[in-house]
Amino acid sequence: MADSTDTIAAIATPAGRGGIAVLRLSGPACVSIAAELTGTVPESRHAHFVAFRDSRAEVIDRGLMLYFPAPASYTGEDVLELHGHGGRTLPRLLLARTLELGARHAEPGEFSRRAFLNDKLDLVQAEAVADIVDSGSRQAARSAMRSLEGDFSRKIDAVVESLIRLRVDVEGALDFPEEELELLETGGLKQGLVECLEQLRRLLENAERGGRLREGLRIVILGRPNVGKSSLLNCLSRSERAIVTSVPGTTRDLIEEQITVGGLTVNMVDTAGIRETGDVIEREGIDRALNAAATADVILMMRDAGETRDTALPEEQMQRLHGAGEVIIINNKIDLAGEEASLQYDAEGRPVIGLSATTGAGVELLTDRLLELGGGEDDQDVILARGRHMDALRRAVSLLEQSLVRLEEHITLELLAEDLRVAQSTLGEITGEVAVDDLLGEIFSRFCIGK
Ligand code: GDP
Repeated sequence: MADSTDTIAAIATPAGRGGIAVLRLSGPACVSIAAELTGTVPESRHAHFVAFRDSRAEVIDRGLMLYFPAPASYTGEDVLELHGHGGRTLPRLLLARTLELGARHAEPGEFSRRAFLNDKLDLVQAEAVADIVDSGSRQAARSAMRSLEGDFSRKIDAVVESLIRLRVDVEGALDFPEEELELLETGGLKQGLVECLEQLRRLLENAERGGRLREGLRIVILGRPNVGKSSLLNCLSRSERAIVTSVPGTTRDLIEEQITVGGLTVNMVDTAGIRETGDVIEREGIDRALNAAATADVILMMRDAGETRDTALPEEQMQRLHGAGEVIIINNKIDLAGEEASLQYDAEGRPVIGLSATTGAGVELLTDRLLELGGGEDDQDVILARGRHMDALRRAVSLLEQSLVRLEEHITLELLAEDLRVAQSTLGEITGEVAVDDLLGEIFSRFCIGK
């Protein structure tokens, strides 16, 4: 990307029909472009109703012009907003005119990149801007908004501060060996490390939960043919997209569908009915189902409430799922069995929910549990983390774990000091304190133009 001394322009609203379109400019030429375009020198933070004119002084459109002088603007530079009519044509003509007057077409994410470079946003906040635009559910949008407000950055900063305190002690001890002994003898260093590690682990856990919220909870439904897997999928998604039939073995392939359950994005995978079978195609489907289940966040094991002796899966297949995601056992068709909706726990502490995919009775017991697992409606701690955040948090956790081992094994403080230094800069990557140019390009190129 070019340096930020030029002026960039982009249509900030989506293309297509719409009442209003907003063209946004950022850079030093905003005022001169505004003056040439409208014949008016814009006042700071004042809404002017003006005519936007082309090079022959013909009116392209009429609308509002707003001017935000640097540094009190989104990008930290002079920013101009032109609000005109929506639709396919006029906004483009207006954009073309500003390019004629010296602006350059903005690249994806370039406004936010400038905001980052001018210290208006840190990297996590800039990413939150993109997440807000992309969010597919209420919780994801809220969580992204909290990151934009600085929540996540503050949590990272808190850990970095603890790390800095530790580093001061350790580096001090390196310079003054008599302090080294004292530091090791009082146990203060160990305690500081343990606390820091706990703080980081909590952050990672909340980030992992947020990761599920961002990607959506991946749920796999397993059970023998005809227990009602497709019916439950339909009931949750309130559509008729999965194939529902009473002939066993019809749902042979995996059907993945993204649905929203109480504001939470859920990727539901309906699987081939699991049963012993000689049919090659079906066997293949079952294999895929078990593979899908092994990587799912939640496995719904479904059985027929009328046939409680029926385990959801043959024992050998249960083995393949050992250690996989959270298991919820569903006893479906309670209407046929004459039972009430219920939530109980089995001997292993797994929830057992009695419901009917046909009447909908008990389905909210399931959706409540899913919401809990997916980050919960009001969970303020959840962080809508990206892969790169989690990766950095994990690296920092393992560095601190390594430091603890070093400390316990009395390995020289120099190595420990180095671990702490690297852990701090790893956390700095998250907020952009330690920014790598490639990383910036990668992050901002995924933004939409005009952001
Ligand atoms: P799958 O093979 O596990 O996907 O099962 P389906 O969803 O295709 O359902 C098999 C049959 O059971 C269909 O005729 C459904 O209408 C019926 N069914 C599913 N759930 C219920 C339920 O809760 N109550 C009743 N009465 N019938 C159900």
